[in-house]
Amino acid sequence: MINNRNAFHILGEAIEPGKGARLNLEVAKLHTNTPIQVPVIVQHAKKDGPVLLLLAGSHGDEVNGTEIVRQIIKKGWNKPAFGTVICIPVFNIFAFLNFTREFPDGRDLNRSFPGTKNGSLASQFAYHFMKDIATNVDVIIDFHTGAVQRNNFPQTRCDFKEKRSLELCEIFGAPIVLRSPLIAKTLRSAMQKEGREYVLFEGGKANRLDENVISIGIKGVQRVMKHLGMRDFKVTAPDDSLIYLHESSWLRAPNSGMLRLKVKNGAFVTKGTILASVSDPYGNFERSVKSPRDGYIFCVNETPIVTKGDAIFHLGQEKNL
Ligand SMILES: [Zn+2]
Repeated sequence: MINNRNAFHILGEAIEPGKGARLNLEVAKLHTNTPIQVPVIVQHAKKDGPVLLLLAGSHGDEVNGTEIVRQIIKKGWNKPAFGTVICIPVFNIFAFLNFTREFPDGRDLNRSFPGTKNGSLASQFAYHFMKDIATNVDVIIDFHTGAVQRNNFPQTRCDFKEKRSLELCEIFGAPIVLRSPLIAKTLRSAMQKEGREYVLFEGGKANRLDENVISIGIKGVQRVMKHLGMRDFKVTAPDDSLIYLHESSWLRAPNSGMLRLKVKNGAFVTKGTILASVSDPYGNFERSVKSPRDGYIFCVNETPIVTKGDAIFHLGQEKNL
């Protein structure tokens, strides 16, 4: 590594080596004419290294990631010895204000990339992010949770063909690595087309802070920063050998009714295991939900009431790479 003598240029500002700044990404105002600013917290080391982006809250109600990035900033762990760390704890601040997943116009920000200059609000927001921030980034860690009551067991997701991203997911060390081909118009798709390395972390559910998930997320960031040579952390290696899930499918409610779960998130289950029961509220009928095959349960729906066809479990199969 050589001494980094260059300022880091982002959002129209120049951040000198060894300095940090809190900047704002501004795209639109609320209907009240209130300006909306997305805080972007940058720490630029004196020495050269990669640019790492910690991004949370693409979906405004997925607060575990926001807490992970907040704690990292609070502890000063976003200050690298080498390279640059950009933190965006609340990316979709419009939705965060409303405790919802989507933009005020109902659009999913994570299906709006790379965006257009004159598209929907979400599309314009995506466009400005790609132009003003993403161009600076080498590696991104993107934090998500399951939607509404769907609780994701801590996991990273990547296309196993993307070897550099797969390696970072392994280093991050969440207990499950899920094969997930690129989905069109996601941030991951847009960033990987630009050749960036990407760790997608999923853990917990919307509108809920989960201490275990937050702890796994923080350790994951430390391991990745250490691996990238940005900063040395005293962090343990992942506890157990990682589980690679190559195939996955949703198990759905056989009928509408009250749902009782019989299995823990993250459990390995065999074909025929009773995973849950669904009943009417009057004591007339009760049906078991059985596992159709061996596999790992890596997402459970914690809602007490389901409608026929609702996703209850995400079941994954392990295959050797
Ligand atoms: Zn999400």
